[in-house]
Amino acid sequence: MALSKAQFGNFRLFTLETGTFRLDGGSMFGVVPKTLWSRQLECDERNRVLLTARVLLVHSTATGRVYLIDSGIGHKSGEKFQKIYELDHSAYTLESSLEYHGFRASDISDVVFTHMHFDHCGGAVKHDPEGRPVLTFPQAPHWVHTAHWDNVLNPNEREISSFLPENIGPLQESGQIRLVDDGHVYEPGFEIVVVEGHTPGQQLPLFTDGDRHLLFAADLVPTTVHLPLPWVMGFDTRPLLTLEDKKRVFGRCIRENILLYLEHDPHNELIRLGDTPQRPSVAWAGTLDDL
Ligand SMILES: [Zn+2]
Repeated sequence: MALSKAQFGNFRLFTLETGTFRLDGGSMFGVVPKTLWSRQLECDERNRVLLTARVLLVHSTATGRVYLIDSGIGHKSGEKFQKIYELDHSAYTLESSLEYHGFRASDISDVVFTHMHFDHCGGAVKHDPEGRPVLTFPQAPHWVHTAHWDNVLNPNEREISSFLPENIGPLQESGQIRLVDDGHVYEPGFEIVVVEGHTPGQQLPLFTDGDRHLLFAADLVPTTVHLPLPWVMGFDTRPLLTLEDKKRVFGRCIRENILLYLEHDPHNELIRLGDTPQRPSVAWAGTLDDL
């Protein structure tokens, strides 16, 4: 499959597929019974659903900055981890997708983490030829929301397994973590929406081109199957806040005609919501190439 791209105001947007993985279907849908979610998303004999780790490269022609929004899982995990999550890099890697669009790792000026669960930040740390952990983009500041970084440093027992020491340690020691707060503007046309239910301080990049807008939905809406309000992941630390996040963000998406870029949906890259925030539907689905 070709990787899509679009000109969006001052920004050149590039889809980067970094590989697929599988997570337990029950964990992905919280209180929703398997009889319901398994009609929407097939699962394997171990009850795992297929997800992709689709990230976004953003080249600003106004400032020259090249932002990487999340980084996928990366390649440094051992065989056991690869089997549990069935990591599959046979079709795509972060590196091969960058190369497809004509970029090198050294071109990345900024890494923006929506949050630091392993499937979002793992690709930013790799092993050097001697097997030591090094940053994939050593020259780049790595941006995280203040509330999220506090949470990473003091994780609760329920969320701690998502913050892998092999990712957090090298990033912390590098001195390249930079913090942002609510209302942060990376540059004109590139702001953030902060949501709190999945994990504290999840920042969702929002790009604007006049009257067109695109929101990187990360783990607020991992797939289209998560659109119904109560279809909230079991992973979420504060599911009732996720409900509020979804109503607020869906309302804004419908009112302001904001497209959602989906990070984990294996079938849908970009959608427009229809109907109401209480009962949202997919009014349109496509890719960056359709913009
Ligand atoms: Zn997450």
